[in-house]
Amino acid sequence: MGNQNNGKKKIEAIVVGAGASGLVCAIRLKEQGVSVLVLEKENKIGKKILATGNGKCNLSNLVYEEDSYRGSEPSFVQSILKQVGVEDTVSFFQRLGMEITEEKGYLYPNTKQAATVVDTLMKHCEALNIPMIKETKVENIVKKGERFFLSTKDETYAATYVVLACGGCASSKLGSDGSGYGLAKKLNHTICTPTPALVGLHSDDKCFKELAGIRIKADLSLKISGKIYKQYGELQLTNYGVSGVPIFQLSRYATKAFLEKKKVTLEINFLPHYSKEALELFFKNAKENVPYKTVLEVLEGVLNKKLASVMVKKVGDANLKNLKITKLSKNQQEALIKQIRSFQTNLVGSNDFEQAQVTAGGVYTNEVKETTLESKRQKNLYFVGEILDIDGTCGGYNLQWAWSTGICAANHIAKAKERIKQ
Ligand SMILES: Cc1cc2nc3c(=O)[nH]c(=O)nc-3n(C[C@H](O)[C@H](O)[C@H](O)COP(=O)(O)OP(=O)(O)OC[C@H]3O[C@@H](n4cnc5c(N)ncnc54)[C@H](O)[C@@H]3O)c2cc1C
Repeated sequence: MGNQNNGKKKIEAIVVGAGASGLVCAIRLKEQGVSVLVLEKENKIGKKILATGNGKCNLSNLVYEEDSYRGSEPSFVQSILKQVGVEDTVSFFQRLGMEITEEKGYLYPNTKQAATVVDTLMKHCEALNIPMIKETKVENIVKKGERFFLSTKDETYAATYVVLACGGCASSKLGSDGSGYGLAKKLNHTICTPTPALVGLHSDDKCFKELAGIRIKADLSLKISGKIYKQYGELQLTNYGVSGVPIFQLSRYATKAFLEKKKVTLEINFLPHYSKEALELFFKNAKENVPYKTVLEVLEGVLNKKLASVMVKKVGDANLKNLKITKLSKNQQEALIKQIRSFQTNLVGSNDFEQAQVTAGGVYTNEVKETTLESKRQKNLYFVGEILDIDGTCGGYNLQWAWSTGICAANHIAKAKERIKQ
C-alpha cells in the first residue's frame, strides 16, 4: 500500500481539503495537541476564499433567521451554531490578529480584502507547523481496523481521524470538484443529489433578451407545487432570465424542483412600492395632466424604458403602444397594472455549477452526529463545511457554516483523543 507514513511520526488526523472549513479545523486540532496533516488537490491555498464577497469576503452575518440555512434537515445546524457561533468566529479571527468590520449585519475583514483572511489563516498554520501537501488529490479512502488509509496518485497516508473538508461542486475552478462525495460514498455514506444554489435562473420567455441589463427593486414570488417562496430586493434581468441576490436566495428551491421535473413559476411585482390604487391614481393624473402622451410614454415616467415597452406588449393589445392615454379603457388599464404588479414567467433551468456560489445537497445529515459532526457510519470520520447537505443563503452564512463546523469537529476530535488517553 505504498508509503503509509512508515518511518515518519504517526499522524493522528488528516484533513482533506484546505478550504475555509479545513484550514480552521487544522488550526484548532493542532492548537489542542492533535497532530494533523492537510492534503489539498490545488497548487494554491485559499483560491475560493479569495473570490468570496467580490474579493471582500463576507465571512459571517449578525442576523440569523430560520431560513438562513436550507437542506433536507435544516435544524441540523442549530447544535453546531450553538457550540461555535458568530461571536466565537469573531474572537477566533481577532485572536489571530485580524479585525472584523460590520455593515448592516454583514461581517467582513476590516481591510475588506479576502486576502487578509487567507494570510491570517496561512500565517497561523505556518506558525503551528501544520504540514500541508498541495497538488495532492485524495482518490480513495479505506478503513482497516482503527486506521484510515487515504491514497493519492503517488502515496498512501494513514491516520486515526479523518476530516472530509472537500466542499461541494460549485465553482470547480476554485478547487471543490465534487470528489469529496465519492470519498464519502466509499465510506458508506449516501449523498442528497447536488444542485447549484445561489445561482441565476433561466426563463423560457424571449422578452428577457430585450430586458437584459436592467436592475430593479422587485417583489418576487417563486411558485412550486402550491408552495410560494417570497423575496424582495434588487432583481437583475439578463438575456437568459433573472439573477441578483433575491434570485440567488430563491434559486435552491428552483434547482431542486427542476431535478424533480416540477413546474416553476416566478411572479414579479416590478413596482412593489406602488399599491394598485396608487397606480390607478398615476394613470388618472396622467390622463388629466399630460393628455398628449401615449400609454407607453406615460408608463416610461414610472418604469425603465425597455421594461415599459415589454409590459405594454405583454398586454397583447396591438393598439395599446401608440394609444393616447386619454383613450386607455378601464379594462386595458387593469390588464396593464396586472402585468406590472404580477408579471408571470416560467423558469426552466439555472446556470451551471461553475457559475453557482454553493451546492445544495451533499452528505445526508441524518448520517452524521448533530453535536459532533462525526459520521454515524464510521467511527472517527468527520464532515465539515459545504460537503454536508446544508446550504446557507447569501450574506456570509456559508462561510460561517465552514468556520463553525471546522472548529466544532476539531474540538470533538481533541476531546475524543483525550478520552482515549485517560
Ligand atoms: C464566487 C464565490 C463567492 C462566494 N462568496 C461568499 C461570501 O461572500 N460569503 C459566504 O459566506 N460564502 C461565499 N461563498 C461560498 C463559500 O465560499 C463556500 O461555501 C465555502 O468556502 C465552503 O467552504 P469548504 O471548506 O466547505 O469548501 P471549499 O472552500 O470549497 O474548500 C474545499 C477544498 O477541498 C479541496 N479538495 C476537494 N476535493 C479534494 C480531494 N479529493 N483531495 C484533496 N483536496 C480536495 C478543494 O481544492 C478545496 O480547496 C462564495 C462562493 C463562491 C464560489
